[in-house]
Amino acid sequence: MTYIPVSLRRIVSERSGDRCEYCLRPQWTSVLTYEVDHIIAESHGGDTVEENLCLACPRCNRLKGSNLSSIDPVTKDITPLFNPRKDVWREHFLLDGALIAGKTNIGRTTVRLFNLNTPEEVSLRREWIDLGIYP
Ligand SMILES: [Zn+2]
Repeated sequence: MTYIPVSLRRIVSERSGDRCEYCLRPQWTSVLTYEVDHIIAESHGGDTVEENLCLACPRCNRLKGSNLSSIDPVTKDITPLFNPRKDVWREHFLLDGALIAGKTNIGRTTVRLFNLNTPEEVSLRREWIDLGIYP
């Protein structure tokens, strides 16, 4: 794992609004420190530069791993994952109550790989919505 300078971590964190850029969970709702994710993993040649970094909760970061793509559950095609630096969240995802639904092939593929709608995640999200802190 590459050392990420504090100044770069700060830029990534502030740019995200201190939220996971995949599931939008606010950092302050977690006891775990959010991680700086290489969108294109270093193992695939991704650089440690602003344009290739995003803030990710440990859960999303773990499930993403070094993946760049996965299988769209509808078309069964190999499909790129959501890229927070290139893609706009609301163009690919829709909040249906506390469920995160994929609106596009990229959205569906990311929801599936990241397993974004486990009963626990949906329950937490419902609580945050009720409190007015999500999204
Ligand atoms: Zn997340």
